[in-house]
Amino acid sequence: MTATILDGKAVAERIKAAVKAEVAKRREKPGLAAVIVGENPASRVYVGMKQKACEEAGIYSELHKLPEKATEKELLQLIERLNEDRKIHAILVQLPLPKHINEEKILAAVAVEKDVDGFNPVNAGKLAAGNEEAVPCTPKGIIRLLEEHKFEIGGKNAVVVGRSNIVGRPVAMMLLNRDATVTICHSKTKDLKQHTKNADILIAAVGKPKMITADMVKDGAAVIDVGTTKLGGKLTGDVDFEAVKKKAACITPVPGGVGPMTIAMLLENTIERHNVR
Ligand code: NDP
Repeated sequence: MTATILDGKAVAERIKAAVKAEVAKRREKPGLAAVIVGENPASRVYVGMKQKACEEAGIYSELHKLPEKATEKELLQLIERLNEDRKIHAILVQLPLPKHINEEKILAAVAVEKDVDGFNPVNAGKLAAGNEEAVPCTPKGIIRLLEEHKFEIGGKNAVVVGRSNIVGRPVAMMLLNRDATVTICHSKTKDLKQHTKNADILIAAVGKPKMITADMVKDGAAVIDVGTTKLGGKLTGDVDFEAVKKKAACITPVPGGVGPMTIAMLLENTIERHNVR
């Protein structure tokens, strides 16, 4: 068997075109404010890509760069200003934040109705309770990619490797909300393979290149590779793609799978935040 490649780039292009058409119809443009603290080069690249995507879709966007040494108070003051700003409908705080800043406090300060990433604990709690009013972009992109390819989620065994608040936990909740039987694995899981072998849907969100090998994958599984690690100048996923694609029913490539979907979902979420203004 050779897996169907879940082409996130192609699906993302369609979604971006739909967002652009929707924005063109609106008299008032949706506005996104991105906030970045410090000089993390990967974060700078991600924010740059997000801003470019906004521009192409006709979404108003502004970038607020704070120095590495910015205080928690300064960041909170900026968020308060953006919460009040009527031309801003969506606020994104690029993670990770410098160590001296309390991430939880910052994410909680973003107004619930402007929380484009769904990281505010109110929105995270709603998701855990089965309400998907504001869900994080990467998990939403993963689910959309499966749905676009008509992959049935209900009743399936889904295994999520990784339990971060930005990917693992929320995607597990979204799978549960769609009636999958969900197992969440992490660094303390004993015998990871025993779990992954049982997965009809396997989601790898760890950040360890090629850690999911073919022997860990069930024949006919849907394999979603979220991991992105720079290896020898190349972006590498958590899944041994070449070997696993011979066993899986469908698989996402890295790059060109989950990454573009994350950006497309950010645009879609911005529109949704604009709807609730
Ligand atoms: P985190 O580092 O926050 O979380 C990694 C998770 O992997 C943790 O829950 C950790 O467990 C778990 N883990 C670590 N080692 C193992 C192991 N040996 N076996 C099983 N689980 C393990 O990462 P993120 O969730 O933020 O990101 C994960 C990956 O996805 C990264 O490569 C990141 O770059 C990528 N990413 C890609 C995006 C995209 O759009 N394509 C968006 C976001 C992230 P524990 O909790 O016990 O420490």
